[in-house]
Amino acid sequence: MASTPTQQSLSVLGAGLVGSLLSIYLRRRGYEVDIYERRPDLRRGGNYGGRSINLALSDRGFGGLNPVGIADAIRSVGIPMYGRMMHDVDGKLTYQAYGKEGQCIYSVSRSGLNYKLMDLAEEEGVRLHFNLRCTDVDLQQKQLHFEHNDTHQRMSAPYERLFGTDGAFSPLRNSMMKTDRFDYSQDYLEHGYKELTIPATADGGFAMEKNALHIWPRGHFMMIALPNPDGSFTCTLFFPYEGDPSFSKIKTPADLMAFFETYFADAIPLMPTLVEDYFANPTPSLVTVRCFPWKYDNHALLLGDAAHAIVPFYGQGMNCGFEDVRVFDELFSKHGENWEALFGEFQQLRKADGDAIADLAKANFIEMRDKVADAEFLLRKNIEARIYSRYPETWIPLYTMVTFSPEIRYSEALRRGQYQDRLMDGLMQQGDWHRDFDSPALDAAIDDMIQTYQA
Ligand SMILES: Cc1cc2nc3c(=O)[nH]c(=O)nc-3n(C[C@H](O)[C@H](O)[C@H](O)COP(=O)(O)OP(=O)(O)OC[C@H]3O[C@@H](n4cnc5c(N)ncnc54)[C@H](O)[C@@H]3O)c2cc1C
Repeated sequence: MASTPTQQSLSVLGAGLVGSLLSIYLRRRGYEVDIYERRPDLRRGGNYGGRSINLALSDRGFGGLNPVGIADAIRSVGIPMYGRMMHDVDGKLTYQAYGKEGQCIYSVSRSGLNYKLMDLAEEEGVRLHFNLRCTDVDLQQKQLHFEHNDTHQRMSAPYERLFGTDGAFSPLRNSMMKTDRFDYSQDYLEHGYKELTIPATADGGFAMEKNALHIWPRGHFMMIALPNPDGSFTCTLFFPYEGDPSFSKIKTPADLMAFFETYFADAIPLMPTLVEDYFANPTPSLVTVRCFPWKYDNHALLLGDAAHAIVPFYGQGMNCGFEDVRVFDELFSKHGENWEALFGEFQQLRKADGDAIADLAKANFIEMRDKVADAEFLLRKNIEARIYSRYPETWIPLYTMVTFSPEIRYSEALRRGQYQDRLMDGLMQQGDWHRDFDSPALDAAIDDMIQTYQA
C-alpha cells in the first residue's frame, strides 16, 4: 500500500475486529491514527466476553487480512472445516462438503484474532485508548464525548475524520440518526442463542469430527458446533425465546435434560457441563440493522456492524466487515483524499452488498435449521455440485459464491442465486432424480437448463 504524506489525523471508534484492521490500513497510508475503545485492554487479562467464542473466517475475510500480512498466521492457527456434519435425532450423521475438494472455512478464536490485529496496529504506530466509552458524537463541532470506565470522568476529544467501527449498537450511528433523512431499521429474530461446550476428550482429542461444522437441525431451531484448537467445540443453541419448546419453557435442570434427551441425545454424553453452562451463560438476542447514509458530510463514516449488523447464519458478519475495509482501501487508491467522493462511492457500493448479505443470512437460518435435514434438499445440493463440476465457469452454487468467491459481490450472488433457484425448481420436477441420479437423463436436463441460464 502506498503512503500518502499528510498532516491529517484520523480517529477510529471501536477496537473490535473491523476497527483494528481498518486502523492498520489507515496507518499504512501514512496517517496518525487514534482508536478509542470502551473495553479495557483485554490482552493484559480479563474476560473478552461479547459474542461467539469462535467465528468462521472465509475467503472474503482473508481478502481483508491478506494485504496486512497476517492471513497465513491466522490460517495456521485456525481449524479448517471442509463441510457440514448433520446430526439427526437418532444420532445418525450425514456429511456434506461445502465446496470443491480442499475448499474450506476456518474456525478461529474471536479474541485471538482481535488481539493479533490490535498487536499489529500498535506495532504500526496506531495509538489505542482503552476504557473510553463514547457517550455521544457531536457531528457539528466534530467532538467525541467519552466517559472513563473506572473513574467515570467525562472527557472530550476533537476529531478531523471519524470512522465508526463501534458495532451493532454504534454510538456514532446513534448521533447520525438525529440528523435529517437518516434511514434506520432494526429487527430482532424471535430466537436468541446460548453458548455451550463439548470439552476435549481425556487424551486431549476432539470428541467429534474435527474438520467440520456440526449441525443438529431441528426444524424451528438448531444447535451448531465449531471446533477450537484445544480440542473442545463451542456449541450454540439457536432457540426461540417463547413458545414450546423455547428458552422460556426450560426452567430447571430436569427440563433441560428432558429437552436434550428428546432433541440432542447424541450430544449429552459429550457435554458434561451442560447444565452449568446452560444456566450460567447469557441468552443474547440476534438483530439485523440497516441504515443509510453511512457517511456524514465528508468527515464521518460507518463500517462493519455499525453500518450493517446481520444474523450469524452465513458466518459472514466479520467477513463482510473485513471486505468493507479492503474495498475502502481500494477506493482510497482511486479517490485519495477526496473524502466526499471516497465516502460516497463506498456507501453506494457497500450498502447494496450489506443489504444482500443481511437477506442471505436470514434465509440461511431456515436452510440450516430445517432444510439440511431434508432428503430432497440434499439431492438438490448434490445435483448443484454436479452442475458446478461440469460448468464451473457458468453455474456457481450460491454458498460457493458467498463463501469462496469474493470476486462476486454479495448483491450479485443474491441475484444470481435467486435465478438459479427458480431454474433448479423446474429441473427438480422433471424427473425422479433420487432414482435416476446416475442416468444420462439428468445430464441432459442439466444441459438444457444451462442453455436457458446462459440465454
Ligand atoms: C453468535 C454470533 C456468531 C457469529 N459468527 C460469525 C462467524 O462465524 N463469521 C463471521 O464472519 N461473523 C460472525 N458473527 C458476526 C461478527 O461477530 C460481527 O460481524 C463482527 O464482530 C463485527 O465486527 P465489528 O468490529 O464491526 O464490531 P464488534 O466486533 O462488535 O466491535 C465493536 C467494537 O466497538 C466497541 N464499542 C462499542 N460501543 C462503544 C462505545 N460506546 N465506545 C467505545 N467503543 C465502543 C466494542 O467494545 C467493540 O470492541 C457472529 C455474530 C454472532 C452474534
